[in-house]
Amino acid sequence: MYHLNPFIHIFKRKGKIALYNALTLSTLYLKKADYDSISFSNPAKELLDNEFVVGPDFDSLNYLSEHKPKELTDELSVAYFLLTSGCNLRCRYCFVETRMNNHKTSVMSEETAEAGLRMLQMNIPKDATLVFYGGEPFLNFSVMQYIVRRCRELELDAHFVVVTNGLLITPEIASYLADNKFEVGISLDGEKGINDSMRVDYENQGSFDEIEKAITILMDKGIVPSISCTLSKHNWENPGNIINLIKKYQLPGFGYNLPAINGNIRFSKEERAILIKHLIEAETEVVKHRLIEDKVVDRRLKSFVEHHSWLKDCAAYGQQFVITPKGKVGVCHGLWPDETNGESKTYYSVDVTYDKPLREHPDWKEWFNRTPYNMPECWSCPSIALCGGGCAKNSLLTKSNIWNKDEDICQLMEQLLPWTIWTYYDLTKNAY
Ligand code: SF4
Ligand code: SF4
Repeated sequence: MYHLNPFIHIFKRKGKIALYNALTLSTLYLKKADYDSISFSNPAKELLDNEFVVGPDFDSLNYLSEHKPKELTDELSVAYFLLTSGCNLRCRYCFVETRMNNHKTSVMSEETAEAGLRMLQMNIPKDATLVFYGGEPFLNFSVMQYIVRRCRELELDAHFVVVTNGLLITPEIASYLADNKFEVGISLDGEKGINDSMRVDYENQGSFDEIEKAITILMDKGIVPSISCTLSKHNWENPGNIINLIKKYQLPGFGYNLPAINGNIRFSKEERAILIKHLIEAETEVVKHRLIEDKVVDRRLKSFVEHHSWLKDCAAYGQQFVITPKGKVGVCHGLWPDETNGESKTYYSVDVTYDKPLREHPDWKEWFNRTPYNMPECWSCPSIALCGGGCAKNSLLTKSNIWNKDEDICQLMEQLLPWTIWTYYDLTKNAY
């Protein structure tokens, strides 16, 4: 007797059924009556050929291992230089802010930067992405310039990214960024009233006008910034608000940041469900206007359409290293052990003078292997090939172990996967 492949998950909507294979990402859309009449003694060839229905000898573990993606690589490609813990804003949700209660800041020196470049040379000899991050990295612009200059002198194969709040960007700085082919990420959470209720300076003044000015300056110099929209209590009921600005600035897209669990503002599970519902409504608008939201949905939608796994949700899973201002080196910038508030386990166990390949260090090896395919509690999940494992920092901070599920991504995927399956159906009319 045949039976449904245990990796098939069933999604229902108004007289229609979608059979979704969680490992191959193929979907079969059926009318409910056709689904009800599937014969398990003599199944249709299409059901057998596409492994929706399998025979008595089916071995689940073997099938899982056969479909585990082979393209995993343990090569590092991204280096974060945290130029300073200081910031000229005091965003109310910030997780860096929670670590800076006594307002001591640390700033990267040229010596630390130089040692960081040696580390870069050894670990990422080709095609490195060097990310300047903080705090606000332009508060230490001289060391940023030092690093760029030294990369040229050392003939390092690196391209530069800076993640900034935009407040210090002038036409001169924008020219410098254009000349050195920087990618620029700017944080903006929505229109003025929304953005300015959360992204404020020391005197509670909003930052919208200055961010808008920075975007204009950058675009005048030919730099198209990527916008990061952090979701929190100021925009959770209207995440689509940012879309108006993306259209106004004629940008191709943007990315949402989900609320950080170690930030100043927390969400209950019920509140997160509402946030995700609104997020999905906003994503429907994104698809309609042919924009790209590249941090939450687009990457998964693309994987779904192209039938390949979205394996890792962030570069911390073995692809990056992070150097703090004081020269500690770790895997994840979200776990940065600021000198004012160290956590018990942060995976910052070496410093910038460490002279062996990081990919052979136990911390990097452990993080490299963290994909849902290696996490038994994910094996029966319909989202195993699309979730990318979410955020290991969340798992560590809530469950003391990166090998537990990140419940936030599970909650997101529970709502996002059915939307993906039916949005694809609606766009392609791929009825059986
Ligand atoms: S593990 Fe989480 S906090 Fe760390 S880099 Fe990845 S997404 Fe960011
Ligand atoms: S982390 Fe959650 S959503 Fe992702 S595969 Fe595991 S159980 Fe599924």
